[in-house]
Amino acid sequence: MVKALKGKPITPRVHIEEGGKIHYAVSCRHCEDPLCIKGCISGALTKSEDGIVTIDHNKCVGCLSCMLLCPYGCITTDENSTVLKCELCIQNGGIPACVEGCPNRAIVFEEVQA
Ligand code: SF4
Ligand code: SF4
Repeated sequence: MVKALKGKPITPRVHIEEGGKIHYAVSCRHCEDPLCIKGCISGALTKSEDGIVTIDHNKCVGCLSCMLLCPYGCITTDENSTVLKCELCIQNGGIPACVEGCPNRAIVFEEVQA
């Protein structure tokens, strides 16, 4: 996988933070009261009935307000300034690709009561 991707632009929706011996995946928390949605000037960000925060790329104007507002740093851009975030792979049947593809089973997908 590493060889196949070498030199190719990668635009992940989840990124890995490294701090000493600790590595952790940073992805959208699909917040109860999302600041990114509050700050979106075009209505491109919405939350579905089942709590998933998604981006409508046809409505997004690329102002990047959501990037500044997300307290977890979960929104990124690609080389075309398209905003990207984890949308729980709802287009792919709802099984997150990161969970399926992690060789060490370090990522789990489960509901946790707050
Ligand atoms: S992008 Fe950030 S603010 Fe928006 S729902 Fe995800 S974690 Fe919350
Ligand atoms: S970059 Fe797009 S999704 Fe983000 S706040 Fe601006 S219009 Fe909304």
